Amino acid sequence: MDQEKSYRHLLKWGDRREETVSHHMAELIREKFGLNDEDFTRKHLPGTDPVKLDKPPVLKPAQVEFLKKVCGEENVLTDDFSRARFSCGKFYGELLDLRMGFVPDPPDAVVAPRTHGEVVRIIEFCSEERIAVVPAGGLSSVTGAVRAPQGGIALDLTRYLNRVIEINRVNKTVTVQAGMYGPALEAELNRQGYSCGHFPQSFEYSTVGGWISARGAGQASTGYGKIEDMVVALKAVTPAGVIETREYPRTAQGWDLFRVFAGAEGTLGVITEATLHIFNYAPQNTASAAFIFRSFEAAVETMRGIMQAECGKPHLFRISDPDETDIAFRTSGFDGTFADRILTMLGFRPGSRCLMFVTVEGERDYARFVMKKIRRKARAGKGMYIGTSPVRKWLEQRYSSAYMRDPLMDLGIMTDTLETAVTWDKLLNVWKAAHEYVSRRPKAFMMIHISHVYENGANLYFTFLSPMEKGNEKQDFASFHRGLVETILANGGSISHHHGVGRVLAPWMEGHLGKSSMELLRAVKKHLDPNNIMNPGGTLGL
Ligand SMILES: Cc1cc2nc3c(=O)[nH]c(=O)nc-3n(C[C@H](O)[C@H](O)[C@H](O)COP(=O)(O)OP(=O)(O)OC[C@H]3O[C@@H](n4cnc5c(N)ncnc54)[C@H](O)[C@@H]3O)c2cc1C
Repeated sequence: MDQEKSYRHLLKWGDRREETVSHHMAELIREKFGLNDEDFTRKHLPGTDPVKLDKPPVLKPAQVEFLKKVCGEENVLTDDFSRARFSCGKFYGELLDLRMGFVPDPPDAVVAPRTHGEVVRIIEFCSEERIAVVPAGGLSSVTGAVRAPQGGIALDLTRYLNRVIEINRVNKTVTVQAGMYGPALEAELNRQGYSCGHFPQSFEYSTVGGWISARGAGQASTGYGKIEDMVVALKAVTPAGVIETREYPRTAQGWDLFRVFAGAEGTLGVITEATLHIFNYAPQNTASAAFIFRSFEAAVETMRGIMQAECGKPHLFRISDPDETDIAFRTSGFDGTFADRILTMLGFRPGSRCLMFVTVEGERDYARFVMKKIRRKARAGKGMYIGTSPVRKWLEQRYSSAYMRDPLMDLGIMTDTLETAVTWDKLLNVWKAAHEYVSRRPKAFMMIHISHVYENGANLYFTFLSPMEKGNEKQDFASFHRGLVETILANGGSISHHHGVGRVLAPWMEGHLGKSSMELLRAVKKHLDPNNIMNPGGTLGL
């Protein structure tokens, strides 16, 4: 069997390596979930069958011919494997579907435009012919935002529209095509002495257009901002015409129209170019520190104090709650060491202690100055400085940890994440309520961290693990997931902080934003996309 053409090839993360869980992780899940040796010898729902679709295309042959005429024959793919590849992102429910050999929402064709002009012609044609268009970047969406429930075309922006157009050293901005992946952009900027400052965990396999459209946040967002803070102008092709905004530092000319596309998830048009702020590339200046606190509450209070002190901001700023800290210690082999015993003796006990990681980047003296203030505040908050190497180790594995989900699913373990934004006054309520909700499920556990921090609040990021209910994997996950989302919202969290909404979280949009706000979003959509061809079928609750 051709492994390259199987569902397994599609469902795996990144470079599709065959990962296994580490020895320490295996021990942990044996203990928590009662797995035995045999469970480790077979793969649950491996998805190794070749991809075969049974959904006939709705595109007419003449329409396919037109697209080929615009983009070139070789840039319009209609084979089953390409259609399946562009039918979903990396949401847990989508991975389960692939493992079961199920592709519910394939596009009829994958079209790779070579220029902005070709995108214009495609969108005009598709709008006239009422053909659905799903813009596709790296397909790393975890919210079901890249499905094609109405068929039509997936627009692959990564194949050709993947270059830096200009680095403007005077304005300190870069203008880049939307299909450019993170590493290529960063490499080009580094060569010129700059950095993009946006490093989501999916950095290696996500694109500028996807970052903007899902309103993402990188791991150093506390210092550099979310992606919408970095965009200064963009060019987007909508069925109502091209919207091209100019670059200004700030204006007061009505709304900032480029912001309409930040978070639009492909429902309004196709972003073809964006101009972003860039930052100095000076990793040698980065000051870092790890601290340990006796409780989550103490760590959060210190974090808030640092953010509200107006003494400069960290770039990376994270707290792992006690569950995440315990698992980090256990899976890194720290548990039971001499250092662990000392920490416990000092009152930093398993079950309540919390790790905090900080970096400050930028000009050397600035980084040192801010770090000095942070260390002072951490000490005042009864945090203990534990060196820089935990931060370095975390940074070394920050992209590779994403590979863990596939071997865990192979072991029959449900594992997914959710995230929210919440103000400081409600943060502990959401944290407690989410843990309380998960504790009601036998053999489930959850780790929570804070990783994007603001003056008035922060995000909470939830990673949960539990054995799958074999034979009822999808329903079981859907009801568990629904309950967790509802718990977060009921306690004051937002639907999303940086993953976007997609189709997975869309059912909560109207209730959460309110009817009038939804009507406004729908009115903008109706104006820009009167025939509802842009990423139709529920994204964002539109
Ligand atoms: C392992 C893993 C880790 C992740 N970590 C993070 C993280 O740390 N931070 C974070 O923010 N997100 C994270 N994500 C989520 C995801 O990577 C982000 O949402 C990312 O921004 C999506 O980019 P993409 O290029 O893959 O877009 P896609 O998944 O291809 O598309 C996402 C949405 O954007 C639309 N879109 C894409 N390109 C365009 C365009 N040019 N014009 C108009 N619409 C477009 C699509 O239609 C879709 O609605 C993670 C995902 C995974 C699987």
